[in-house]
Amino acid sequence: MYALTGKKVWVAGHRGMVGAAIVRRLAIEGCTVLTATRAELDLTRQDAVEAWMQKNRPDAVFLAAAKVGGILANDTYPADFLYDNLILEANIIQAAHKVGVEKLLFLGSSCIYPKFADQPITEDALLTGSLEPTNEWYAIAKIAGIKLCQAFRRQHGRDFISAMPTNLYGPGDNFDLKSSHVMPALIRKAHDAKAAGASEITVWGTGTPRREFLHVDDCADALVHLMKTYSDDSHVNVGSGEDITILDLTKLVCEVVGFTGKIVHDLSKPDGTPRKLMSAAKLRSMGWSPKIALKDGVASAYASFLAGEFAERSQGAA
Ligand code: GDP
Repeated sequence: MYALTGKKVWVAGHRGMVGAAIVRRLAIEGCTVLTATRAELDLTRQDAVEAWMQKNRPDAVFLAAAKVGGILANDTYPADFLYDNLILEANIIQAAHKVGVEKLLFLGSSCIYPKFADQPITEDALLTGSLEPTNEWYAIAKIAGIKLCQAFRRQHGRDFISAMPTNLYGPGDNFDLKSSHVMPALIRKAHDAKAAGASEITVWGTGTPRREFLHVDDCADALVHLMKTYSDDSHVNVGSGEDITILDLTKLVCEVVGFTGKIVHDLSKPDGTPRKLMSAAKLRSMGWSPKIALKDGVASAYASFLAGEFAERSQGAA
């Protein structure tokens, strides 16, 4: 058991959707939350990260900073997705070792798993097959992050752990249609179509791929749980344990938003991996399960969209 009470806890990536949710969640832990804006600290500069860590001396670190984006952004900016993510996680993990951080939680993503992994995907499927090509740049950087945590644990006895969240959504999401993930994209499309009195909305691909979704506040709660109770080599999946087709998700979003028009498919856009449901068994066995139902979560995400809560596009974990 690692108590956060009285500790200095750095949330790297606090302007992103997940980082912001972790900051909200930590409010009840009795810890001091440290944050650094991009202007104060460039995470891609090793010397800057080390100097900031030396000065601020966090006891614990949530590594939620990342360059994130949906299927099209990944495909369009492979160099950014690979290099930026590799460099910032390496800088933070190495500096955390140097200054003696007691506990670090690295955030990855479900795209680390092989494209055709058996479903639901258990943690041990990592590195058993080839990746989905549309997001392998991001995935390889995240796999390297898991391995860095394991390597520092093995070689230096550091208590660095990793969590792999599924597709997250909620307040502070990126609603930009070119770079967003499917959930905020559908919310925006349904909203815009309703506002314009349009007769249809367009979804990318066939609508048959299945995806799992978790509200970001549930995710933050799980991450704090892991920070406090988990200490081991292997990463842990953080998901809802349930998936839905893109078409059914579209129908649900339309229902919540109140758009009653037609749904049409743009088949020139990629489907990506056919299914990506993670096993939630390991985390459940540690006494954690999600609390926010998908429909309620979509309603809260839509409310935040209406309130104009837009996250910085390139911060926060996927
Ligand atoms: P992925 O989980 O890495 O594939 O990333 P996304 O969240 O971007 O896409 C998930 C699925 O939703 C893919 O099959 C997309 O083709 C599909 N999709 C349907 N409409 C949209 C859309 O408007 N934006 C995005 N990003 N994906 C969409």
